[in-house]
Amino acid sequence: MLHIAIIGSGPAGCYLADQLLLPLPDASIDILERLPAPFGLIRYGVAPDHQGTKAVTRVLDRVLSRERVNFFGNVEVGRDVRLDELMPLYDAVVLATGATRDRKLGISGEELPGVIGSGAFTGWYNGHPDHSAPLAQGVRSAVIIGNGNVAIDVARILAKGPAELTGSDLSPAITAWLAAQPVETIHIVGRRTTADAKFTEHELAELGTLDRARPVIVDPTALAGQSAVVETLRKFAAEENHKTPLTINFHFNLTPAAFLGDHRLRAVQFRSSGGVRIELPAQLAVTCIGYETVACCPVNPSNGVFPNEGGKVGKRLYVVGWAKRGPSGTIPTNRTEAQQVAQRIAQEVTGAGRPGGAALRELLERRHVRWVDHAAWRRVDAVELARAGEGRCREKFSTVAEMLEAAQVQQNLTCPRAKG
Ligand code: NAP
Repeated sequence: MLHIAIIGSGPAGCYLADQLLLPLPDASIDILERLPAPFGLIRYGVAPDHQGTKAVTRVLDRVLSRERVNFFGNVEVGRDVRLDELMPLYDAVVLATGATRDRKLGISGEELPGVIGSGAFTGWYNGHPDHSAPLAQGVRSAVIIGNGNVAIDVARILAKGPAELTGSDLSPAITAWLAAQPVETIHIVGRRTTADAKFTEHELAELGTLDRARPVIVDPTALAGQSAVVETLRKFAAEENHKTPLTINFHFNLTPAAFLGDHRLRAVQFRSSGGVRIELPAQLAVTCIGYETVACCPVNPSNGVFPNEGGKVGKRLYVVGWAKRGPSGTIPTNRTEAQQVAQRIAQEVTGAGRPGGAALRELLERRHVRWVDHAAWRRVDAVELARAGEGRCREKFSTVAEMLEAAQVQQNLTCPRAKG
């Protein structure tokens, strides 16, 4: 019997578990997750109005329900158990911890209230327990920095009216926050040319279909290139005549220079390729410039990822997903990558009589750590679905305490947990 631990239950971790089951018919796989709820970025990153994409959780949930897969939610490696404690228990350990920290621009004013990273912003509107509402009110103008699909998600959520959010899982509090902002202008700003934009055509085109917003190309002479994305931008430029309460202004070739304001954000300053300084007024700025991996116990990232060779970090230690390759690719990219890393693990790892999950359970019980297993997660899921209000498909719990209560897991908060 082989015992494998995967740290992280996002798409990378779940797909890896799935891919390990076939080549290792005698392996038992334990997935550890710091939150009581699984699915990582699918639950907390994919936009709440893209429920079709979020539906992949049904596939991932089937993986968690497999007989040889065990879910240990509410168990944080570094807090409840250390990596060096897991290594002797398992034949292989895989880091699938994602890239959870927002990259910084490193320009002045980045700490001003009103400036927020996309991980914090998308985490907040997805009900992540670690993230709260941006420190901004009366947002008439929002600046979004970056030309990737996350920038589009953020713009779309800010631009949509309440009726367009029907069917999403946005909570009432977040819906109310969004509805209270008198947004008139959203600026999406890229530092390079239209040909360098990383949007995908489908996501970009969706911005041309919104009820109360229309895309505007601020400088149509900047439109260069022949890709499907550039063609969509050209289409936007040709359709700009009708009036809407809100515009989504696309700017290119502008490098962020500073966030301006005394006690809160007032404007974002950019430098054009010709060296001209340009200021865009803003009460909210969301930096959508990518993410980096954070340390897992003694394993430190370098350049935002865990240094690895084809998914191998060290002896019996592997990595998958954004923690391996950085914040790129689509959800299916993780499935392809999981196949490759699973084959490698299957070839390299041999059993040595390690105790696996039985010993982990004992250790957690000794430390009074209450974990959420798959059945307990299903209870949380059922309550979230049942309590959804009108026009919503789910109402998520946004605190760990609420999730544990719905899971019917009693966390004894007076007992000390392991130190990282
Ligand atoms: P991304 O696609 O890598 O885009 C990041 C953007 O930030 C790029 O335009 C980049 O410009 C810019 N940037 C980086 N550093 C910067 C700096 N210092 N100053 C100014 N701009 C800077 O990343 P993402 O949008 O965070 O998306 C992450 C991944 O998730 C992508 O693979 C994306 O496709 C995927 N995703 C997919 C969907 C979907 O399919 N619906 C939705 C969301 C996310 P440069 O190109 O010049 O570096």
